[in-house]
Amino acid sequence: MAREMKALANPERDFIDEDRMQGQLSKQRDPEPQKIRDIIAKSLALQRLDPDQTAALLNIDDEDQWQEVFAAAAKVKDRVYGPRVVTFAPLYCSNLCLNDCVYCGFRKSNRAEKRRKLSLAEVADETRALIATGHRRLIVVYGEHPSSDVAYLDDTIRTIYQTRDGHDEIRRVNINAAPLSIADFRRVGAAGIGTYQVFQETYHHQTYRQVHPSGPKADYLWRLYALHRAQEAGIDDVAIGALFGLYDWRFEVMGLLYHAIELENQFGGVGPHTISFPRLEPAANTPWNERSPYRVRDRDFKRLIAVLRLSVPYTGMIITAREPAAIRRAGIELGCTQTDASARIGIGAYAEREQEQEAARQQFLLNDSRGLDEVVCELAEMGQLTSFCTAGYRCGRTGSTFMNLAKQGQVHRFCIPNAILTFQEYLLDHASAPTRKIGERLIHRQRKRLPTSVRRRLDRLLARIQTGERDLRV
Ligand code: SF4
Repeated sequence: MAREMKALANPERDFIDEDRMQGQLSKQRDPEPQKIRDIIAKSLALQRLDPDQTAALLNIDDEDQWQEVFAAAAKVKDRVYGPRVVTFAPLYCSNLCLNDCVYCGFRKSNRAEKRRKLSLAEVADETRALIATGHRRLIVVYGEHPSSDVAYLDDTIRTIYQTRDGHDEIRRVNINAAPLSIADFRRVGAAGIGTYQVFQETYHHQTYRQVHPSGPKADYLWRLYALHRAQEAGIDDVAIGALFGLYDWRFEVMGLLYHAIELENQFGGVGPHTISFPRLEPAANTPWNERSPYRVRDRDFKRLIAVLRLSVPYTGMIITAREPAAIRRAGIELGCTQTDASARIGIGAYAEREQEQEAARQQFLLNDSRGLDEVVCELAEMGQLTSFCTAGYRCGRTGSTFMNLAKQGQVHRFCIPNAILTFQEYLLDHASAPTRKIGERLIHRQRKRLPTSVRRRLDRLLARIQTGERDLRV
């Protein structure tokens, strides 16, 4: 706690040292093959890489070496998390915003945007629509505005948890919201959030100033320290991210790594629960996005996913419907552990059963609007269980407890049985016949890989699900 207080008492300490990061990237040019193999071996032993080692991976030039990195990234994911992908849906509550981020459709100066904030009744409608498709986990997103203050966050989170559809409900609400004070973080923590997520967007200071010209978000350090304050307030699952396309992708990977190391150092080894790496996408009346010289090509995007996977083996990685289906598939093969499905990001779009995207109601345009059943079916074809599991945070496996399990490669002891249980629920209650068929075959294969004692317990729980019980977990 003393170290936490020291970090918070000294918020001007900027732990993103650009000269050092650029120096590491320059120094590690043309890494020797043996050096790369040693780095890969360290990651396969589930140890977090040092910045020099990540810089060496980012400088690989040889395609065969990249193939080794890709294969190792897939192995690391399998060792830590097993064959399962956690699935969630985004729920956008408001597109009113005080900030003027040049890349965002919600920015204050964008007159093309149709502004709206959901009432609590509308939040309940959106929630019911999502529950009906089978979702159990949400990431709830808010603009930064006095009308979506902490009281609104508190009310919306509680509304979502209270909304039911028969025995179905949302069991985990994560939020993506503007940085809060410690007191306000305590309030949203008390409302029962799972993870608090905020992206630094870019770690490059000059770029940060250019793309965030006004509003509270212009304060780089207030945002950089948001997750310290969240941890101080008792929220021990925190999530970092960068928006790729604002600045050089290699630098941003280094920034994410330094952010993860800082959190580890300050909070007893607890790094970020997840890392996100969205790419810039078109948004209504936002030409900046098409002009950015730093847009990330697909080839480099796959590379950055694999390098992040190896650099921070214990951390979840999120790939979303911003990406087209083929890239999401590649991302999951390279080690992503979470993805969304049936995403609609227009304000109020779920309850309105919107099929088409309406740019003027969205922050940006999605590339993959497939429904949940289609995504679940594809994952099953890839040998991946779709997990709707929320047991971890409801059983206290968060923060250091989760991180210690992840670092020892023990997460799948709980995650695979719980993934199977929630997957079975989904297959019975919501899946199409083809998805159910392929899903049940996958469950059959995966349960055989479990230790006998775990399998016996799982089988007893699966039998209870067949008779109508729900929300069972190990
Ligand atoms: S990126 Fe976030 S803070 Fe910036 S304008 Fe968009 S909603 Fe507001």
